[in-house]
Amino acid sequence: MPDLTIVVPACNEGAGLREFHARLAKVLDTLDGVTSAVLYVDDGSRDDTFQVMCELRAADPRVATLRLARNFGKELALTAGLDHVTHGAAVVIDADLQDPPELIATFVAHWREGYDVVYGTRASRAGESRFKKFTAAAFYRVMERLSATPIPRDTGDFRLLSRRALDALAQVRERQRFMKGLFTWVGYRQLSIVYHRDARHAGTSKWSYWRLWNFALDGITSFSGAPLKLATYIGLLASLAAFLFGLWVLGKALLLGDPVRGYPSLMVVVLFLGGVQLMALGMIGEYLGRLYLEAKQRPLYLVDEYRAPGAE
Ligand code: UDP
Ligand code: MG
Repeated sequence: MPDLTIVVPACNEGAGLREFHARLAKVLDTLDGVTSAVLYVDDGSRDDTFQVMCELRAADPRVATLRLARNFGKELALTAGLDHVTHGAAVVIDADLQDPPELIATFVAHWREGYDVVYGTRASRAGESRFKKFTAAAFYRVMERLSATPIPRDTGDFRLLSRRALDALAQVRERQRFMKGLFTWVGYRQLSIVYHRDARHAGTSKWSYWRLWNFALDGITSFSGAPLKLATYIGLLASLAAFLFGLWVLGKALLLGDPVRGYPSLMVVVLFLGGVQLMALGMIGEYLGRLYLEAKQRPLYLVDEYRAPGAE
């Protein structure tokens, strides 16, 4: 049983996988005192990714392969991979060499010091457009504002997770999985390592802007109830304004008469009903938010340590 498993989700990465494995294997060879394994997860690739994985498995006894039935997306490929790590710690790394495998040695050193989650924070990203960098930065900053779980900035999935962090993560079975939020959510001792993100070695990014936008929406909705709350407050404000305006229309009609016949009563009814409806929607929103939290079935808390009274 390995002490450390490197989980590598890959979708159409056939072109760069051999090079990736060569660099990774070199790093794993230098880790003394730690037995390691590599789990390649084929997330429904349409190219020769799986054949390359099998070839690597035949050549290196450390390699295991996991092939998903179709493309489920990176978050689920990661989940499937981590679920298969039943012993020891795990490292999550992209297959495109954007995350340098050499950093794993540093992660391992800190893991041995007792950290549970050691993650790479990007100081820079090479080979990505200004627009992508800008939208990524904006996303991390919005997330920081909205989420109750502080999700670290400029941090991808590249990280090491200790056994207990993995066990905690295994208890989180929500369907809409925003992995980097969940990695942080487990807590324990976390450490950030700053690194320089390289350009993709081969192949192309699987994340179109549309996919990234949906990813951002997933992140915000699964870690924040702010959008629902916003509806509540807009509803309350609008209904208050409608109520005041209704009073004003009514008052004016009572004092100055009713030059346009039927207008004041019509306005009062419309505004009153509109206000009541918005408020009711807001209330439903609040309950929906709670129901949503409940439906996710996250563990209520995770314990770092408990010390019974007495000796030591
Ligand atoms: N990936 C995956 N399934 C997908 C999309 C991506 O397993 O549906 C893998 C991909 O092969 C790579 C990692 O997730 O190892 C990161 O993807 P990519 O490099 O395309 O994302 P970017 O670095 O552009 O954010
Ligand atoms: Mg990449």
